[in-house]
Amino acid sequence: MSALLGLICPQCRNRFEASQLQRDCSNCASPLLARYDTAMLANRLDRKALANRPAGLWRWAELLPVGNPAFRFSLGEGDTPLLTLPRLAEEMGMGTVLLKDEGVNPTGTFKARGLATAVSRAAELGIREFVIPTAGNAGAALAAYAARAGLKAHVFMPEDAPQVNQAEVRAAGADLHLVPGLIDQAGKQAAEQAHSKDWFDVSTFKEPYRVEGKKTMGFELVEALGWELPEVIIYPTGGGTGLVGMWKAFTELRELGWINQTRPRFVSVQPVGCAPVVRAMELGTERIAPWEHATTRAHGLRVPKPYADRLILQVLRESGGTAVAVEEQEIQSAQEDLAQREGILTCLEGAATLAGLRKLVRSGWVTGEERVVLFNTGSGLKYLS
Ligand SMILES: *Cc1c(COP(=O)(O)O)cnc(C)c1O
Ligand SMILES: [Zn+2]
Repeated sequence: MSALLGLICPQCRNRFEASQLQRDCSNCASPLLARYDTAMLANRLDRKALANRPAGLWRWAELLPVGNPAFRFSLGEGDTPLLTLPRLAEEMGMGTVLLKDEGVNPTGTFKARGLATAVSRAAELGIREFVIPTAGNAGAALAAYAARAGLKAHVFMPEDAPQVNQAEVRAAGADLHLVPGLIDQAGKQAAEQAHSKDWFDVSTFKEPYRVEGKKTMGFELVEALGWELPEVIIYPTGGGTGLVGMWKAFTELRELGWINQTRPRFVSVQPVGCAPVVRAMELGTERIAPWEHATTRAHGLRVPKPYADRLILQVLRESGGTAVAVEEQEIQSAQEDLAQREGILTCLEGAATLAGLRKLVRSGWVTGEERVVLFNTGSGLKYLS
């Protein structure tokens, strides 16, 4: 049922067996990406049939890594709504602005998608114990899916991570370790423990299957638009899993012959207090330098140095996209406007995409007839405390 062929390093092109659990590239430390037999699927899989399967991310099983259906752990993730924003679109002089609302996922964020696939595949390959460094939401999702799979999770979080995330991790029976500093510090501690205790590290892009779950956002989007791509996708970027995942999704759909050749322009939005992707785009560098003293209330975007830096920049550049920094105050106003004018209580990360769109409309980078899709990555309910 899964057409998984193997794993490839997008930098040095080394190939790796998918029948064993892999981490990152043992040759050059780049993230690894999964490859599927799309040539075989192109003849066998009918895109319309997928709509008749039970709702959720596992509808796309052929293009996901888990072979044995008994290991497809689910809490109902995926198939989130694609909402119109009629009032806000009109105010901006835009025709179509859509918002994919990931806040209705289990554990309240799109992190559920990535952890559903990563935990499922690792469990299928025999892993019993997981470790993750997290700004908050990924830890909550890992804790939930580990519980669902009957496995153990250890979560490393900055000590100032939101209370609600700490409570979610504890509630799911996972071990919570609070760490001074930011997610990079949590990452160091998690890596040490993973090494000495033989726990499997599901850090962003340090294993190949979280991005596979995230790519299903791209599948759903294209299916909802009648197998067409929008002109612009605006994404709040932390580690870049969603961005890279959707770009991968569109590549696979093109290989299947289900969509034509054009790509949407991808836009990364980051807060001014932590904007390493924006800075690298401005400087034209191939790598992303760590951001000093990262600070923002949008915790999911407080990632000083994304591990998949080259892939993120490649997606933005190859798609003709860009990166935009927004002020905390602009994020706050965008969150209020989405809630008051459209009835959608978004997380701050999601609200940042509206703030970013407003800038791009003002500068003329986006025009009124272009179809724009914003991603609300989480529920505003997680931010009310
Ligand atoms: C993790 C997170 C992000 C950043 O996601 P990436 O795909 O890793 O860039 C954005 N928003 C929320 C709510 C998050 O939890
Ligand atoms: Zn490599």
